[in-house]
Amino acid sequence: MSAKKRIGIHLGTTGGASNAVERAVEIGANTFQIFSSSPRMWRAPKVKPEQAERMRELRKKHDVGPLVIHTSYLVNVCAQSDEIREKSVAAFRGEIERALAYGSEALVLHPGSWKGLTREEGLTRAADSIERAIDGLSWQGTGFEILIENTAGAEFSLGGSFDQVAELVARLRPVAPMGVCLDTCHTHVAGYDLVTPDGYEETMKQIATTVTFEAVKVWHCNDAKAARGSKLDRHEHIGEGTMGLEPFRRLLNDKRFAHSAFVAETPVDSPDDEIKNVRALWALVK
Ligand SMILES: [Zn+2]
Ligand SMILES: [Zn+2]
Repeated sequence: MSAKKRIGIHLGTTGGASNAVERAVEIGANTFQIFSSSPRMWRAPKVKPEQAERMRELRKKHDVGPLVIHTSYLVNVCAQSDEIREKSVAAFRGEIERALAYGSEALVLHPGSWKGLTREEGLTRAADSIERAIDGLSWQGTGFEILIENTAGAEFSLGGSFDQVAELVARLRPVAPMGVCLDTCHTHVAGYDLVTPDGYEETMKQIATTVTFEAVKVWHCNDAKAARGSKLDRHEHIGEGTMGLEPFRRLLNDKRFAHSAFVAETPVDSPDDEIKNVRALWALVK
């Protein structure tokens, strides 16, 4: 992959995951995100070798990457319930195996909900679960990383602050390839300011002293339906929400994130919405 600007969007995988590469190219994206299984089902089929092969070939041919995979919503690596936690460890291991089979560079994980525990217990559980999920798998030399995503900061959800994301990443670095995914909507509704010029720089200072710029491999680019600090996670089309275009213009042109991929997870209400949001992001690049 060359070091050029990478902009894309979350895409469906109807007819096979590798179809998403062609869809990405069609809508002007040079990176994309997918689910590697149904995000609301525990059972997941194995990756078909011909799909994995086609994914690699098409990505190489069209220079599309990174391939970002988002973990299933059911996975909660810090669950209080032992049953859910064990299911989560097994499911997350499957996520890692499929990501490696597809040649993905980035597997995004929400750190989960520690309801019924203390935050510290939640953090310890999350770190132990991820360590167990990757134990014995070989990822060395693949460029693969697990990216911990910051969350909207709802009650009991781990990762509502950059601090918590940084702590989890730091605990896992010795045993797993770790990075960070920051979501603009989550950042905004968690209370950080990306909208005003001064607030943006203050937020950048917080990133520098916690997760660090270097670790941010992916920015999820989503405008927000809800107000800053509301802790309500509702994504909106780029430029049409409470954030507006400026935060995206700043991030896309911020040299501190020259290495990051920018991937929208905006609503798809009409078939044109994917291309519309990808274009909206490209239009901000200077
Ligand atoms: Zn996100
Ligand atoms: Zn979200």
